[in-house]
Amino acid sequence: EACLSAIDAADALNAFVHKTPEIALDRARAADERLQGREEAPAMCGIPIGIKDLFCTEGVPSQAASRILDGFRPEYESTVSRQLKDAGAVMLGKLNMDEFAMGSSNETSVYGDAVNPWRREGDATRLTPGGSSGGSASAVAADLCLGATGTDTGGSIRQPAAFTGITGIKPTYGRCSRWGIVAFASSLDQAGPMTRDVRDAAIMLQAMCGHDMKDSTSADLAVPDFEAALTGDIKGRKIGLPREYRMEGMPAEIEKLWADGAEMLRDAGAEVVDISLPHTKYALPAYYVIAPAEASSNLARYDGVRYGRRAKLAQGDGVVEMYEKTRAEGFGHEVQRRVMVGTYVLSAGFYDAYYNRARKVRTLIKRDFEQVFADGVDAILTPATPSAAFGLGEMSESDPVQMYLNDVFTVTVNLAGLPGISVPAGLDTQGLPLGLQLIGRPWEEAALLNGAYALE
Ligand code: GLN
Repeated sequence: EACLSAIDAADALNAFVHKTPEIALDRARAADERLQGREEAPAMCGIPIGIKDLFCTEGVPSQAASRILDGFRPEYESTVSRQLKDAGAVMLGKLNMDEFAMGSSNETSVYGDAVNPWRREGDATRLTPGGSSGGSASAVAADLCLGATGTDTGGSIRQPAAFTGITGIKPTYGRCSRWGIVAFASSLDQAGPMTRDVRDAAIMLQAMCGHDMKDSTSADLAVPDFEAALTGDIKGRKIGLPREYRMEGMPAEIEKLWADGAEMLRDAGAEVVDISLPHTKYALPAYYVIAPAEASSNLARYDGVRYGRRAKLAQGDGVVEMYEKTRAEGFGHEVQRRVMVGTYVLSAGFYDAYYNRARKVRTLIKRDFEQVFADGVDAILTPATPSAAFGLGEMSESDPVQMYLNDVFTVTVNLAGLPGISVPAGLDTQGLPLGLQLIGRPWEEAALLNGAYALE
């Protein structure tokens, strides 16, 4: 009830786009009963959370913040949200996001911008909570819920976490089932928790992951006890600082944040070494070929027949007009841009020059990481973002590349399928939160969370 009132009082943040108070109170009552029962209840039992609008939730609007999914109420529940529900978590509602998770500022949502609860000192400018999981970040940062689900295709958990001073982990590709999550770029998409701190992230991730027969890319691996791994002991662990992430024009405060983080890990007994990930500079262009390519294919299903909205048709319109009109008015600008770029790079004449080349670059990026891990590095420390949260409307819509540059430190992790976590690491000179990212070996989320715990 406290969360529900907090949500109502925080409408200005536009974090929750669909509230589900009846479901919340029902589940809370059930959790109370379970907690009073004899068996030991899971740690998530009774914990109020929000669910990103990208997750299908049974009987509850699930629109991926797109007009084209107007009126869509799935008859099924995504595996991740079902697991959370089974663990006793209490869903408070659906959270704002960029349309189809395409964006870094939550400005492409059909519901309008989500707003960051933070402000620059002495300045009332409304700031972005980041994206695409902007509503999730804003809700957790403003204490509207104790945790939220996010998804991360190129940074959409880690960048908003950094912009709002919370913790967010993208697990190894395959750790969480993608079943029932609206697909953006299937070879990159992963779900993960967004929480106030590392311990909460460990607890919530535990409930979210595991093998699922319904997702052929989900890994059939045992899920370790993530919370038990949080000892804070990182003595002798080898942490790499990749020199290619020291970008030209990097703000001094980001450099300092990074150096301070390295110092903290060294003080805790880790060995900090310089490393090289030589193909880093090709990651962003490769991502912005591969992600739109997969998106253009995934979004072909929105045809005005199978889901959601169909445009009004004129006398004599046929099936082609129905597709065209539905997709023209159902998809926002950024989504249309991605569909066009994706279709172009997959077209017969350009496939080898763009899509295939990007896939080769992706392999090289993955090998860079494999090499570093083979050399004994346990985790890699980088800044999470190149800046603190920016003002809503500050980035020009006509220059999408400016927005894409936000993902420069995060997309490599998705391309290589690795786990990555963003933890709050201090404030910038204007009093805004900044985050550090730790990247781990595949399937070693437990060690990664423990490293983040030492940084906290
Ligand atoms: N900002 C990136 C994009 O727009 C990443 C989004 C995401 O991780 N879902 O594609």
